[in-house]
Amino acid sequence: TESLATRDPELYASITDELGRQRDEIELIASENIVSAAVMEAQGSVLTNKYAEGYPGRRYYGGCQYVDVAENLAIDRAKALFDCEFANVQPNSGSQANQGVFTALLKPGDTILGMSLDAGGHLTHGAKPNQSGKWFNAIQYGVRKQDSLLDYEQVRELALEHKPKLIIAGGSAIPRQIDFAKFREIADEVGAYLMVDMAHFAGLVAGGQHPSPFPYADVATTTTHKTLRGPRGGMILTNNEDIAKKVNSAIFPGIQGGPLMHVIAAKAVAFGEAQRPEFKVYADQVVKNAKALADELMKGGLDIVTGGTDTHVMLVDLRPKGVKGNATEKALGRAHITCNKNGIPFDPEKPMVTSGVRLGTPAGTTRGFAEDEFREIGRLIVEVVDGLAANGEDGNTEVEAEVRAKVATLCARFPLYPNL
Ligand code: PLP
Repeated sequence: TESLATRDPELYASITDELGRQRDEIELIASENIVSAAVMEAQGSVLTNKYAEGYPGRRYYGGCQYVDVAENLAIDRAKALFDCEFANVQPNSGSQANQGVFTALLKPGDTILGMSLDAGGHLTHGAKPNQSGKWFNAIQYGVRKQDSLLDYEQVRELALEHKPKLIIAGGSAIPRQIDFAKFREIADEVGAYLMVDMAHFAGLVAGGQHPSPFPYADVATTTTHKTLRGPRGGMILTNNEDIAKKVNSAIFPGIQGGPLMHVIAAKAVAFGEAQRPEFKVYADQVVKNAKALADELMKGGLDIVTGGTDTHVMLVDLRPKGVKGNATEKALGRAHITCNKNGIPFDPEKPMVTSGVRLGTPAGTTRGFAEDEFREIGRLIVEVVDGLAANGEDGNTEVEAEVRAKVATLCARFPLYPNL
């Protein structure tokens, strides 16, 4: 009965401070979002107490009748949302969803073909420091030098040369829609499985603003916490019964033990929210906002990789202003605009420096920002970057303070979690 505030004031302070940060800063990290109070309520529920190894109706523990209801709701809603026949909602994260597929379909030493990290892929798609790059013969494709668009020709050449068992489409910094049909064609040519990792754009698929990986993908993975706006976690989808069985065994007992039933309940809540008509409006606004922000940044003299975006995310090439990604992330942070430095394709700078920042609209759009607000945010970003360009790493303190004040005004107009 003792509240967290009195039982553990030190920890409680970290939560209230973080709430304050989220309220007072503009969140432009493309992989983040703001979940509903209902999602948090489910995640903070007594379901965290329950062990439920296995799957609904076939558990290794007693007393699972109610958590079965929660997991079945999550599964049924996921299947409806993505129009597919099978869903495993147990992966604890996007990385574990990908590991689950690898465990289901591959053996150590098998060849996989995924997008390289520096071109916009994810660590788990075969990057050297990741298990996927250590345990598999990981071949990596990238983007075209001339326009930074996904290099389908290279995908095909590498596939023909290396005969991968699994090809991965998707990534963490891909601003344009992926041609799943083309990937399917290449996979068929070499007899490979096609896995689409839609972690970033799953919410856009759910909201009808991005093509679905199905029917092209053999299997799709996703996180549930990015554009999909659920709790932190992962999920695996497929229409293939054989793959479905293998995926179930791969997640449990292959790589996980007891599923996080409180998180699965929160996934169910989020999927239910994503089935509502409002979510279509949200996804549409996410894309419109991204276009508005990219346009405003280009007007301000910045380059956008590929010349714009079709999704929720863009890569800003800072080189026209002569500033670096790390300094820009810090300067924007001082102005209460949160983003992450990000390498641009063929980046001459090291990963800890970079020539770019990655910006996304999912969180701001949830907050209520529309095109006008995102255009204003674009102008504020340009002001801060121009301050950096003129004054070096320390930026222009005065400009940053002015921007911080304007950010405060904007945030106050769109209050976050007013009831917390
Ligand atoms: N796949 C892609 C494309 C991602 O962008 C991410 C997260 O950044 C992941 C997988 C991994 O998700 P998690 O951080 O939940 O392990």
